[in-house]
Amino acid sequence: MAEHKHKVVIIGGGISGLSAAYYLQKSINARRLPIEVQLIEASHRLGGKMQTVIRDGFIIERGPDSFLARKTSIINLAKEVGMEDKLVPNSTGKSFVLANEKLFSIPGGAMMGIPTEIGPFVTTGLISIPGKLRAAADLVLPRSESGKDQSLGEFFRRRLGDELVENLIEPLLSGIYAGDIDQLSLQATFPQFYEVEQKYRSLILGMKKTIPSQPKPKEMKEKKTGGFLTFKTGLQSFAEAIEAKLAHESILKGHRVEKIIRVNQKYEIYLNNGEMLIADSIIAATPHKVTQAMFSDYPFFEPFKSVPSTSVATVALAFPEEAIKQDIDGTGFVVSRNNDYSITACTWTHKKWIHSAPKGKALLRCYVGKAGDETIVDLSDDQIVKIVLEDLKKTMDITMNPDFFIVSRWKNSMPQYTVGHKQRLKKILEHMKTELPGVFLAGSSYGGVGMPDCIDQGEAAVQNALNYLKEAVQI
Ligand SMILES: Cc1cc2nc3c(=O)[nH]c(=O)nc-3n(C[C@H](O)[C@H](O)[C@H](O)COP(=O)(O)OP(=O)(O)OC[C@H]3O[C@@H](n4cnc5c(N)ncnc54)[C@H](O)[C@@H]3O)c2cc1C
Repeated sequence: MAEHKHKVVIIGGGISGLSAAYYLQKSINARRLPIEVQLIEASHRLGGKMQTVIRDGFIIERGPDSFLARKTSIINLAKEVGMEDKLVPNSTGKSFVLANEKLFSIPGGAMMGIPTEIGPFVTTGLISIPGKLRAAADLVLPRSESGKDQSLGEFFRRRLGDELVENLIEPLLSGIYAGDIDQLSLQATFPQFYEVEQKYRSLILGMKKTIPSQPKPKEMKEKKTGGFLTFKTGLQSFAEAIEAKLAHESILKGHRVEKIIRVNQKYEIYLNNGEMLIADSIIAATPHKVTQAMFSDYPFFEPFKSVPSTSVATVALAFPEEAIKQDIDGTGFVVSRNNDYSITACTWTHKKWIHSAPKGKALLRCYVGKAGDETIVDLSDDQIVKIVLEDLKKTMDITMNPDFFIVSRWKNSMPQYTVGHKQRLKKILEHMKTELPGVFLAGSSYGGVGMPDCIDQGEAAVQNALNYLKEAVQI
């Protein structure tokens, strides 16, 4: 007689769900556990936001393009699925910020915009003299009230003043979350800055003490690669490599989960085609609003309804190299809000990621859409590209039309960890423990938005599911 197997259903085939499926299958195989895995994905492809277009020798990322090399979970997973040799580091170069309609190079020693070296800040034209004096007040200001969450804006404005925040810190930080720094939670996004303040009082002095020493100019010349990595075959190839390691029959694409209810210690999972699956444990690797809708019978998920997700679009533009007349020595720029620009950032991708464009070609990737200004994402491709080209003309003197462009819209895709995020999530997780035992969350809406953070969450959810099954059904 066939052995009875317990079923773990993973919902959502982005990097969070994929990594959960990979590590769960690995544990099952290694320990011969009587568990069956089912990964359910609404669309017809796995990878979620990791999407690559390969065209005319260009490798174009529609969504994420790279990750921090010091976050090792993604490198470990790359090794597991045989993709380690496809990892490439970024080429380094100057980064710029567009403020008051001009490009300024980001002052040396700025850590996420926080000055750690005096010289470059004294000489930069990016901040006025009163702005610099206000930032220096950080050296004498007291600590924040201990333990209380606050917005990134409140924290940085208090310590360093509005001008440094608006011209440098906001464009750098909001690039990661496409968010409003006056709404985003310090504790949930950058707790390290709060910790530095609590320990050293001054952010400037504390950051100086905590960062590793910067390479000297000579070392910098020798070290031409930076702290980011990507896959030279595109991030989608990483998703495909993970998929190739999963048992074919464990993957169900093109099926959307609509509702989940707990019945007799198990879970009934209703799909959009009317089918119903029974699971012993669930890993929901879905965005928070989807999770809330799937568990609509459980009112404790309601707070997810009011957590915003910002819409953005990426616009990749392929040019012949000669189209860029004012070739700036650098890898890109971010845009402060005090400009009449629609783009929020532009990466000179062919310089940052040499493999991304064929010889003689240039690839620029611009972002549009930010918290409070997302309507541009709803325009047509041609309208968006026209606006982007007008902005680029002003900064880089580009007058030619691109050979081709790719606009990728990410509607309601950037979850905003607003003030109180950690406490809100903690309450929901506490309810889940008692009312939905065996259900776990993973993904960018919960414990970190970077791909490595999503992998960490996928792995942790697998461990939680295995511990649960050990207790509940003695696997
Ligand atoms: C434009 C952009 C640029 C970014 N840049 C970077 C970057 O450079 N580096 C970085 O580390 N991160 C970056 N990020 C963030 C990162 O891409 C995401 O946080 C991460 O990919 C999210 O993975 P996930 O698996 O949690 O969610 P997703 O990738 O969103 O996957 C969720 C999956 O769930 C599926 N799904 C939804 N509802 C259902 C349902 N009811 N039933 C079944 N399946 C369902 C979806 O179809 C989707 O495939 C970027 C994000 C965007 C949008």
